[in-house]
Amino acid sequence: MTGFLSNDGWHAKRVVVIGAGCSGLACIKCFLDEGLEAVCFESSDDIGGLWRFKERPEPGRANIYHSVIVNSSKEMMAYSDFPPPADFPNNMHHSQVLQYLRLYAKHFDLLKHIHFQTTVCSVRQRSDFSYSGISTFQGRHFHSWEYCSADGMQGKTVMVIAVDASRVAKQVYLSTRHGAWMVGRIGEGGMPADVILYSDPSVVDEVDVVVFATGYNYDFPFLPEDLRVKDGYRLSLYKHIFPPSLEKPSLAVVGFIHGLRAIIPLAEMQARWASRVFKGLTKLPSESIMLEDIQGTTKRMHQRFACSERNPLQVDYIPDLDDVAHEVGEKPQFFSLFLRDPGLGLRVLFGPCTPYQYRLCGPGQWAGARQAIYTQWERVIRPFGTRKLPEIQPETKQRSPVYLTFASGQT
Ligand SMILES: Cc1cc2nc3c(=O)[nH]c(=O)nc-3n(C[C@H](O)[C@H](O)[C@H](O)COP(=O)(O)OP(=O)(O)OC[C@H]3O[C@@H](n4cnc5c(N)ncnc54)[C@H](O)[C@@H]3O)c2cc1C
Repeated sequence: MTGFLSNDGWHAKRVVVIGAGCSGLACIKCFLDEGLEAVCFESSDDIGGLWRFKERPEPGRANIYHSVIVNSSKEMMAYSDFPPPADFPNNMHHSQVLQYLRLYAKHFDLLKHIHFQTTVCSVRQRSDFSYSGISTFQGRHFHSWEYCSADGMQGKTVMVIAVDASRVAKQVYLSTRHGAWMVGRIGEGGMPADVILYSDPSVVDEVDVVVFATGYNYDFPFLPEDLRVKDGYRLSLYKHIFPPSLEKPSLAVVGFIHGLRAIIPLAEMQARWASRVFKGLTKLPSESIMLEDIQGTTKRMHQRFACSERNPLQVDYIPDLDDVAHEVGEKPQFFSLFLRDPGLGLRVLFGPCTPYQYRLCGPGQWAGARQAIYTQWERVIRPFGTRKLPEIQPETKQRSPVYLTFASGQT
C-alpha cells in the first residue's frame, strides 16, 4: 500500500488486494468507491476463488465438490448494492455463485484492476490433520478438500461427512465431537429456511471410506511473524480485521470470518470499513483498546461457540454485521426510517435482514437500496414459477365441424 501523511494522519492512496475471490472483489469495489486506487493480485487465472470449481483440487486453495449448493439463500448472501438475478434459484449451485460474481465484476468493471497469475508469495497447503487409529484403517480416507463428487462411494459405508455421498452410498455416518446442527436449506412451502439438531454417540465398526470434513488450516505465509500473533485460536485482529500493533492502519484482513450465514455481506462490510480507515476518514482506537476488545471478543466467542484450531472464526451474523456497520456509519436507523418512509421501515423491521438495508443511509448510501428491498420477495418467489413457454398461435385454417352425438338408451 502506498499513502501519504497529512496533518490529520496517514491516508492511503493505492491499495493492494490479495486474491480475487468474493472478498477480494468486494475490496476492489469498496476501495474504488472511496476514491482509492485498487490493485489486485490473483494467483490463478480467473476470479471466484473457492467458487471457481476445480476438477482437480489445487494445493493452497480451498475447493468445493461438483454438487455444492450454497447454504445461504441468494438474497441473504448478496452484495449490498447488487441484487442477484430474479430467475436464479434461492439456493444457488456453485456455478451460479460464480456467475453472480462474474456479473458483479462486470457491472462494476473490476477486472481491469486484477493482475492474474500473480502470486504475492508461495502458499503451502498444510496436510497435518491427524486422527487416532487412522494409520491402521484399511479403507480409503481423505480430507473433504479432495472431495469432488460421490464417484467411488456407490454402495459403500461412509464415515464422517459428505452428505453429497449419501445419494449413492449404502450408509453415511456423521461423526462430530460436539454434536452438529443440521441446517436445512428449504423451509415450509419451499422457502429458504434453517432447521434441526442431530447427535448420536454410537460406535460403527464397518466403514469403507472416511472423509475428513474437519475444517481447514489457515496460514498467511506472506505476513511477518509479528502480525500472525494469535488470540485463542484466531488471529489477533481488531473486529476480525485490523492487526492492532501497526503504527499506521495499512493492513486489513477481509473475509476471514465465519458468520452463521453468508460470507459476502460480512466481507463487503469489512471492506467498506477498511476503505474508510485507509482513506483516513475513520480512526481506529489505540493499540491497548484494540487489544482489550480482541480479548473480550475471543472470550465471548469461546463461551458462545465450540471454537477450536480448525473452527476459530465463528461469529453471529447480524450482530457482527451491525457492529461493523456501526463503525462505518451504515447501520439502519429504524426510528428515523419509520418517520421518513413508514413502508420501508416496516419492511426493514419485519422483513429478512438482507444486505441492502446497509445501503439506506451513511457514506455508502445507494439510491437503489429501497427498490432492492421492495422487490426482494419477488426475486425469492420468481424461481418457483413454472417455465414460460412461447404463446401458441391459434390455427387459422378452416376445421371441419365436429358433431357430437348423444345416444341415450331407451327402455
Ligand atoms: C466446501 C465449502 C463450502 C462453503 N460454503 C459456503 C456457503 O454456502 N456460504 C458462504 O457464505 N460461504 C461458504 N464457504 C466459505 C467460503 O470460503 C467463502 O464463501 C468464500 O469463498 C471466501 O471468499 P474469499 O474471497 O475470502 O476466499 P477464496 O474464495 O478462497 O478466494 C481467495 C483467492 O485468493 C487467491 N490467493 C490466495 N493467496 C494468494 C496469494 N498469495 N497471492 C495471490 N492470490 C492469492 C486465491 O487464488 C483465490 O482466488 C464455503 C467454504 C467451503 C470450503
